[in-house]
Amino acid sequence: MASSEIARDINRSSVLDLIRTNQPVSRADVARRTGLQRSTVSLIVDELISERWVAEGDLGQVPLGRRPRLLYLNTDRAGIIGINIMPRLTTIALADLNVTFRAEESIPTSSDPNTFTTVLISTVRRLIGQHPDMVYEGIGVSVPGRVDYLSQRLVFAPNLGWRQVDLKQPLETSTGLPVQIENAANACALAEVWSGPHKGLSDLIAVTVSEGIGTGIVANGQLVRGPSGAAGEFGHVCMDSQGPNCKCGGRGCWEAYASNSAAIRNYSQGSSRSHKPDEMITKDPITSFADILSMAERGDRKASDVLDIMARYLGLGMAMLVNGLAPSVIVVVGEVTRAWKRVGPLVQSVVQECARTHASTRIVPADDVTQPRLRGTIALVLQKHFRPRLVA
Ligand SMILES: [Zn+2]
Repeated sequence: MASSEIARDINRSSVLDLIRTNQPVSRADVARRTGLQRSTVSLIVDELISERWVAEGDLGQVPLGRRPRLLYLNTDRAGIIGINIMPRLTTIALADLNVTFRAEESIPTSSDPNTFTTVLISTVRRLIGQHPDMVYEGIGVSVPGRVDYLSQRLVFAPNLGWRQVDLKQPLETSTGLPVQIENAANACALAEVWSGPHKGLSDLIAVTVSEGIGTGIVANGQLVRGPSGAAGEFGHVCMDSQGPNCKCGGRGCWEAYASNSAAIRNYSQGSSRSHKPDEMITKDPITSFADILSMAERGDRKASDVLDIMARYLGLGMAMLVNGLAPSVIVVVGEVTRAWKRVGPLVQSVVQECARTHASTRIVPADDVTQPRLRGTIALVLQKHFRPRLVA
């Protein structure tokens, strides 16, 4: 691309991003905040209106002169499909440019990736067919495992038992839409800085706590992926080489101590010390982490103890993140946030005890209701159109 085209593209995406993050906003404000010329902004805005990315609405207030029409994102135009694959259930949703969900459906996640892909494709096509008025921008997919960034294949999802799965090609062929696949924790980190309460933050880590533990790292405003997309596997950092078996094939990983599965195992064993999880689980009917949460809430001592152990190990792992990366915020995503009143202070105290840096990282629970994984899949598709203007 010629440098003038690159400049035009950069200006266009920064105007679009400014409208997104400040809407409703006047042309004059867009010019002032981006530092672009009024005439440049007007040309870009006219183009964005004609392409229906942006719409004009109410009149804004000014002290003197003609009142300007305010600009906002045109939510009737674009549809984005978000797919959140989790070990038991997969959610498929349709969102608009403001990441407001218009429709949502769930399907069971089959252990066979081929069967699953067939059902997934028919659900996505049905959802698109039900909203023919939208222009579809693409499909974002969040998976509980690592993704090869270049080939976009799911390399390994230990809690699904899937290896080397290609979801991109069949989804693209059947829908004609571009598909982007991302690790769930990365999707959550992206969601928080894109449309969540930490919008615009440039250093943040999302820690997803479910069957396993994932970490998504945003540093200097960018997702940290590493050359192949394998970065961020803190869940499989070894804390004790003689520790409990982990689904990755190793032993004593962080997630083998601090995940929901670890809590279920500890409850079933009645202790955190035994290292033979699978033998013990069959002796007790507790199969879901939600059971442990509700029992703890009802005052069950054993369930409360299990949550305390989980909190301690979550804290140990997070102290490692604070020591090593010192982000502004660590956002915790998962069912455990429902018990944050109990778990949060324990996590904080372990981090304070073990992270001997002057980092002032805040550790906060994500609001599960806002569906961070799913919001992340939408941001994945949209982010290429919206880029904040970097002011040196
Ligand atoms: Zn592991």
